[in-house]
Amino acid sequence: MHEMSIAMNIIDIAGEQASVHGATVVHAIHADVGALAGVEVQSLAFCFEVAREGTPVAGAELVINEISGRGRCQACAADVPMDFFVAICPECGEGRVEITSGRELRVRSLDID
Ligand SMILES: [Zn+2]
Repeated sequence: MHEMSIAMNIIDIAGEQASVHGATVVHAIHADVGALAGVEVQSLAFCFEVAREGTPVAGAELVINEISGRGRCQACAADVPMDFFVAICPECGEGRVEITSGRELRVRSLDID
């Protein structure tokens, strides 16, 4: 499962950062997940619950910050909301919309002690 490898990746990054900062406990992991990142948020949350067992971040909560998809029309420069990877500009009808946000998939911060 795609989300399982992402969850394990998040756990690896968090565990690594926690040890770099000399943390004894990780309370929460804040992750940015864009609407166009190709990740099922529900599935990722579930996979995280399973994958964290027995790791240094077993007690941590995964806080997912969902970022909506947006794009910029290359023809008229309109700001276009995007639910999918391609969009037709609502202003001029052109299909040349470049994604400007929504592809994020990263660990943003940790709550540690
Ligand atoms: Zn346009």
